[in-house]
Amino acid sequence: MEPRMPALFIGHGDPTHALRDNAFTRSLSTLGASLNPRPKAVLVVSAHWLTKGTWVNLAGHPETIYDFGGFPDELYKVIYPAPGAPELARKTASLDPRIGTTDQWGLDHGAWTVLKHLIPKADIPVFQLSIDYHQPMSYHFDLARKLQGLRSEGVLIVGSGNLVHNLRLAFSRGLDAAPYDWAVDFDLWCKEKLESRDFDSLIDWEKAGDMASKSIPTVDHYVPLLYTLGVADSTESLSFPYEEVVSSLSMRCVKIG
Ligand code: ZN
Repeated sequence: MEPRMPALFIGHGDPTHALRDNAFTRSLSTLGASLNPRPKAVLVVSAHWLTKGTWVNLAGHPETIYDFGGFPDELYKVIYPAPGAPELARKTASLDPRIGTTDQWGLDHGAWTVLKHLIPKADIPVFQLSIDYHQPMSYHFDLARKLQGLRSEGVLIVGSGNLVHNLRLAFSRGLDAAPYDWAVDFDLWCKEKLESRDFDSLIDWEKAGDMASKSIPTVDHYVPLLYTLGVADSTESLSFPYEEVVSSLSMRCVKIG
């Protein structure tokens, strides 16, 4: 058996980070370089692949998908050429009957804008698991529980979203604006629940009230966290490779194991 890989949650923010050199992207480079041994493959659960049903992508050469609009031309020229991992994808599907296989996906920007810094050489196979957008929070955590064993097979599991993600407000105040108080409060609430390994409260985030409902107007960017937690044990070490709240976005990243 291979050594157990860590599990990550990355707050990805806007896609232009793919081209930037800043404290956030440098933290990803450092994190990627620190992985020892190197992962055999990377499984990404991205906020940007929302489906009916849960699907794993079998593509041998996943295409870089430009699933956004209105960004500089340069961003549409970025290609992340990592190979896929069809065998591991099939294995993943075999772990739970709720997971189907497809080749109708590539790498969306929740995956490649992060991987570009985490694994800049694109020399490690990558595959994605979709988010069934019609399921409750508990579904995602329970499903991820079944995927835990992949970590012992050298698979780095990466949830890619944002703990606080209110785009409407981010655009109205500007992406570099000072953080909203409720965004800071909810980000710190998440931090505290993570540090105390209170995964139940993180699954039931709605009970955290107004700061939570403002931070999570739609669940797409929060759900990837539940996959990171679902593949973790409550006794593992946990750290925050990056933490920052800008405007109504939390860029907090979590490393478990
Ligand atoms: Zn996003």
